Amino acid sequence: MLLVAAVVSFFLERHTDAFFILAVLLINAVIGTAQEYSAERNLESLRNLVRTYARVVREGESFEVDAEECVPGDIVLLEEGMKVPADLRLIETHALNVDESLLTGESAPVSKDASAVLKWNAALGDRVNMAFAGTIVTRGRGKGVVVATGIETELGRLAETLTDVESAKPPLTRRMEVFSGNIAKAVLIAVLLIIAIEVRRGMDPAQVFVQSVALAVSAIPEGLPVALTVVLAVAVNRMARRNVIVRRMVAVETLGSCDFIASDKTGTLTMNVLTARLVAIPGHGYMEVTGDGISPEGEIRTAHGRPTEREEHLIKRVVTAATLCNEAFFGMRNGRWVHHGDTVDVALLVMAHKVGVMQADVTAKHPMVAQIPFASERKFAATLNRVGERHQVFVKGAPEILIEMCDRMVTIDGDAPLERDAIERCAADMANNGYRVLAIADGVVESDEEFSDKQLRGLTFLALIGMIDPLRPEAEHAVARCRKAGIQVAMVTGDHPITALAIARELGLAQSMEEVVTGPELKKAEHIGDEAFDDLIRQARVFARVEPRQKLDIVQSLIRLGHTVAVTGDGANDAPAMRAAHVGVAMGMSGTDIAKESAELVITDDNFASIVAGVEEGRVAYSNVRKVIFLLVSTGAAEIVLFFLSLFAAVPLPLLAVQLLWLNLVTNGIQHIGLALEPAEGDEMRRPPRPHGEGIFNRIMVERILLSSIVMGGITFMLYRYLLSTGSSMDEARNSTMLLMVLFENLQVFNSRSELRSAFSLSPMRNPILVIGTLGAQLVHITAMYTPWLSGVLNIGPVSLEHWARLLALALTILVAMEAYKMVRRRVPSA
Ligand code: ADP
Ligand code: MG
Repeated sequence: MLLVAAVVSFFLERHTDAFFILAVLLINAVIGTAQEYSAERNLESLRNLVRTYARVVREGESFEVDAEECVPGDIVLLEEGMKVPADLRLIETHALNVDESLLTGESAPVSKDASAVLKWNAALGDRVNMAFAGTIVTRGRGKGVVVATGIETELGRLAETLTDVESAKPPLTRRMEVFSGNIAKAVLIAVLLIIAIEVRRGMDPAQVFVQSVALAVSAIPEGLPVALTVVLAVAVNRMARRNVIVRRMVAVETLGSCDFIASDKTGTLTMNVLTARLVAIPGHGYMEVTGDGISPEGEIRTAHGRPTEREEHLIKRVVTAATLCNEAFFGMRNGRWVHHGDTVDVALLVMAHKVGVMQADVTAKHPMVAQIPFASERKFAATLNRVGERHQVFVKGAPEILIEMCDRMVTIDGDAPLERDAIERCAADMANNGYRVLAIADGVVESDEEFSDKQLRGLTFLALIGMIDPLRPEAEHAVARCRKAGIQVAMVTGDHPITALAIARELGLAQSMEEVVTGPELKKAEHIGDEAFDDLIRQARVFARVEPRQKLDIVQSLIRLGHTVAVTGDGANDAPAMRAAHVGVAMGMSGTDIAKESAELVITDDNFASIVAGVEEGRVAYSNVRKVIFLLVSTGAAEIVLFFLSLFAAVPLPLLAVQLLWLNLVTNGIQHIGLALEPAEGDEMRRPPRPHGEGIFNRIMVERILLSSIVMGGITFMLYRYLLSTGSSMDEARNSTMLLMVLFENLQVFNSRSELRSAFSLSPMRNPILVIGTLGAQLVHITAMYTPWLSGVLNIGPVSLEHWARLLALALTILVAMEAYKMVRRRVPSA
């Protein structure tokens, strides 16, 4: 529009106008582009913060290395949820399934087979003895040799053709562009109306045209998309500082309106540093394990002190089973204790160390023949080992699962028939005290058939291990903050309902068993129908003994119930739930790559409190967008009001083209960016979440815009009219009108800083850029009034001090009006 206006002005021989318009165009473009560029570069750099790791075997030992550090020849271990770090020739596969959609577009996972022999020209999708960089393991395990890295991988070859889907504009930005477009249309209609009426009245068509274009340019909130990018970039930065990495920009917006967080217990609400504290041999009583955390210092004590020889023997049997049936590592390396793997498994290894049973020794003595790895769905793990001449099984898992496998149990006097009740009572007791309870069993299998859970019968029940996973110190406070902010929190866990409730109580999440729903209950309700399912979900705050895939059903039900849901996840099987939820939150430390890929947010410290911090920043961002919109729309509307009133009063149009463009520059040139940088007001987490689906233009927004634009436009018009009728020249009248408008709009910036709080309660120190920018812009205008050539172009000039004071007094009405409005609205909150 400005270009058209410049060209038209040029042909009408209004050269000063034309050059001025071009200059404005340039300045606007430079400010906008610079802002947008720096904001986007910032976002770009943050996107790369999520690193992936690879587990490699070098000289017989396994290491975790940065995926980038894999080199050809490395042996890489693959596990469910991992991203393949390089192109691998597979040398071992156990039910390995890989999602290769990135390379082939085929969404069904491909089943891999290390022993397959392929034709020389097999297509990429058929090369089942290979795993390709960037693809994701959806199931199973595998081992492979790195054959290509970086640009030489299949992914590298594809890289040139890969377009970054992620960089698509976030919906809020797109909506804002549509919104700016709509406002532009409305302004254009208004402007056409003005042109038509003025030309009919016999005004100079050229002047009216250029003036109207200038009005349109000034009134259209063209700075909005840029300001929005800035708001989002600022939010993403602030979140990163609070350990929240935004992977998809939508999350910033949705987080702000999130009203339900379904959080994993282990690792998110708790520390995920498990320590085995109790060993219960049913029928014999408890033994205590001393020492804390992942350190081998400590011992096992009975009620009388040191265990007797018989007891010692029993303990050895228990920890040997727990060590053999174990997928973790705990040991000395280069003089330091290191560990990796499942925390439950690590805790068991640590306990074994305390009684002198070393992983390396027992695994060497009883080599593993086959195994059933732990999976949340199964709730147990088992291994088959060679013990002397025979094969023996070792099982650990949830007590209720293991009881079914056993028909005997150990006692101090040797094996005896299983006493189910005693074991169940003992497990319930421990769970009630917040212990995570794990059962251990062993047994002998004779048959040669392939190892499967069918053989896990007739085992001997050995012990119950009670483990403590301390709460994260911030978790309780974060839950309380959510409550104040109108956000419901639910805990999702595979743990036993009693253990889960004990922990939920400590967190202040739930009080009674009525708020606990279990996976099996959900399954039953699922068969009855959605309604029954939703009824269960509605009251639930603790979801216990839940299988990961049930998380998806829970999320879907919460969405049906009208919630805006954030859900956490770390494993491959959490991915569907995270995709279904409005905001998927992946754990940065414990999360698998697949979880991170599916998530909108990644929490670098796995901490629930960080999610809450993210919500807070999301709310701040959303309210800053509203602040920017309020400023831009209300000042534009004020200009339209001024022009229409003049039109109806049949007086010459109040501002010249150059003046309108100048006005736009000194009132909307930098101020909206300043507002985009506003810090939190502090009460973000004391308000309820914004209603689901509520637009930016809710009642309070419309009221504020109407009121302020009428006050600014109306009073400016009255001044203009008054000056004309009291004999001021046209130029003088326009000069004052212009000055008043600049004052109004710059004061409006301070009104925009809060929807309900007084402009005077917000210290200028909170946002120096805004304050300095606004004062600076005002100063630029005043300087222009006193600068000969510029004042000539703009048709403005100095005014007397007295006149100055009068205009300032008039301008202050907008502060008074909005303060009054805020006061009323604080008392009578809008619906
Ligand atoms: P959570 O959500 O609390 O991490 P999981 O789904 O990991 O729960 O575990 C479910 C249940 O499976 C646990 O309560 C425990 O009884 C059992 N379990 C957990 N980890 C292991 C493991 N490494 N080996 C065997 N059983 C386990
Ligand atoms: Mg777990």
